[in-house]
Amino acid sequence: MRKSFVAGNWKMNTDSSSSVTLVKDVISGCSEIAGESVDVAVCPPFVYLQAVANAVSATHIAVGAQDIFYEQKGAFTGEISAGMLKDIGCSYCLCGHSERRHVIGETDELVNKKVSAAINGGLLPIFCVGELLEQREASQTEEVVTRQIKAGLAGLHNEKASAVTIAYEPVWAIGTGRTASAQQAQEVHALIRGLIGQIYDNELAQQIRIMYGGSAKPGNAAELMAQPDIDGLLVGGASLKAEDFLAIIRAAA
Ligand code: PEP
Repeated sequence: MRKSFVAGNWKMNTDSSSSVTLVKDVISGCSEIAGESVDVAVCPPFVYLQAVANAVSATHIAVGAQDIFYEQKGAFTGEISAGMLKDIGCSYCLCGHSERRHVIGETDELVNKKVSAAINGGLLPIFCVGELLEQREASQTEEVVTRQIKAGLAGLHNEKASAVTIAYEPVWAIGTGRTASAQQAQEVHALIRGLIGQIYDNELAQQIRIMYGGSAKPGNAAELMAQPDIDGLLVGGASLKAEDFLAIIRAAA
């Protein structure tokens, strides 16, 4: 049985005061279910990670980074390593979010290095995949997602891959208000679970969590979570309002 998982990606939002207020509101609204019937994480901007990590210490809310660099230390100006994130209390990190792939230009190869570095550094990667609108319209969803999954997990044996949570985030649904239908999402989640079975084995395929992301909100969370292969939700915009994020957490619990 896979435990539900809801993570909030705050992207480049909040400030030093509102980041702490937001996480405190989340803590007080879900303390009875977080870590019990649902795992909950928030992913603030790098500069507020420490403050948010301090606020969640001694709670069951986890903290994740929105990105990492794949080297451990050294002359990599501006970059942050898995070890540094672990040091300040992070448990998770997003790898290959579509905004990093399509705005910053991250490749499958780079995402693979980040997933691997996260695991080696003791973090739990949330490895994001998903097709562009034109790729869906050209019936390339299966091909694109298969390529991203195989490339992103390349070189990871079973034990390491078991640390990964996969997030299926169709790019056309992110921040657009246009959610994939529960059926569209379920189809791709089933494809991904099948791929994990092929690359690894059925045991890992049944164990690995696959979240959906893309305009998840209180009104569609329950229907998405009712799909057999949707194990959680990666939430962008709606995670910035405690009330909405809490409603999504409750729907997933
Ligand atoms: C995201 O940033 O991963 C995301 C899913 O954003 P939104 O919920 O705003 O579409």
